[in-house]
Amino acid sequence: MLRQQPLWAAGSSSLSLSAARLARLLVHLVVLAASMPFAVATYGTLSDESLARIPTAGADFDIHNGKLLAPILIPRVPGTPGSRAVQQHFVRFFQEQLPAWEIEWHNSSAKTPATGDQLIPFANLIFRRDPPWAAPGDVARLTLAAHYDTLYQPEGFIGATDSAAPCAMLMHVARSIDAGLTAKWEAMKAAGEAGNGLEEERGVQIMLLDGEEAWVKWTATDSLYGSRALAEAWESTPYAPLSTFSNPLGSISLFVLLDLLGARSPNVPSYFQTTHWAYQRMASLEKRMRKLRLLASEATKQFLPESGKAMSQFARGFVEDDHVPFMARGVEILHVIPHPFPSVWHTMADTAGNLDIPTVDDWAKIVTAFTAEWMDLDGMLPSIPAQHEVRETAKTEL
Ligand SMILES: [Zn+2]
Repeated sequence: MLRQQPLWAAGSSSLSLSAARLARLLVHLVVLAASMPFAVATYGTLSDESLARIPTAGADFDIHNGKLLAPILIPRVPGTPGSRAVQQHFVRFFQEQLPAWEIEWHNSSAKTPATGDQLIPFANLIFRRDPPWAAPGDVARLTLAAHYDTLYQPEGFIGATDSAAPCAMLMHVARSIDAGLTAKWEAMKAAGEAGNGLEEERGVQIMLLDGEEAWVKWTATDSLYGSRALAEAWESTPYAPLSTFSNPLGSISLFVLLDLLGARSPNVPSYFQTTHWAYQRMASLEKRMRKLRLLASEATKQFLPESGKAMSQFARGFVEDDHVPFMARGVEILHVIPHPFPSVWHTMADTAGNLDIPTVDDWAKIVTAFTAEWMDLDGMLPSIPAQHEVRETAKTEL
């Protein structure tokens, strides 16, 4: 991501609210809370036992030969062979390891200020798993996103935190919840609860977005090429009449955007008041996993330290990133991006060697836990030895 707006400046006036205005504001917030489905999280909590079943990515996050991360650690400028190689890496992973996930390409093209009249291709990849009985327009989807493209300049820029590592984290999330989703939906079918209309249909989708970076200088038109095209396309692609949602944009229950993750000791603020409850859920999972000694990084404080943030502390400033075209169309956003940015940001030092792998692994586990909790997978996750370790062993023996 590129442009960082002043975060707290816009909110400074809120500190000097008069008592009467504050009271009115509070009344307004209560009314808002009552009318907003997002203000009340209705799903259960993951048990300690389930948290212990969240797998680590282990050797798959090795920067030299790790199966998930290493293939992404190359320059990925849109339209170049590096970009295509990484797209194939994502697609092959889902095709081979997670065949139940639907794969959708969203292609667009645009001119950039760096490349004159040439049309540059941008390809977003969406990987989706819905309840098998549900019509596409009836599923509310937790949407996890990261961008995979890299800066055009400086040449050879790797973008390990920006955002190779977040992409690898999301691949790990998908494979870590896959068996749990199958188990949950099988159990619902067996109990006659499949598609009975009593509960909201919940799915999950992972978006690996292209063209986030500016080619010359960050502006409204030189940035977010992929996400702008996708949000626009989805808004104008209606679902069948009488569907729960009018279009794929409306089916996004929460847009969780990961960016600039993978450096040691990140500080991720809570940016948005309307999704602060979701931030708190993720922060609570982080806290519990640390207490249960399930995380590996040596953190002196939480990655997500702002659970106790007061409503009056939320400012209007935010970091411009792939969520912007979605947020502008009313989608709820949880932006998981550190402030300050990693010190290597947009330099040639944003390399594999400067990632803190225990931090990368911990983020993958925290986001997996958040997703598993959201999808109500308590009691549905397989025990750890039944997952990748066994598969790895079996493969090695062949
Ligand atoms: Zn960037």
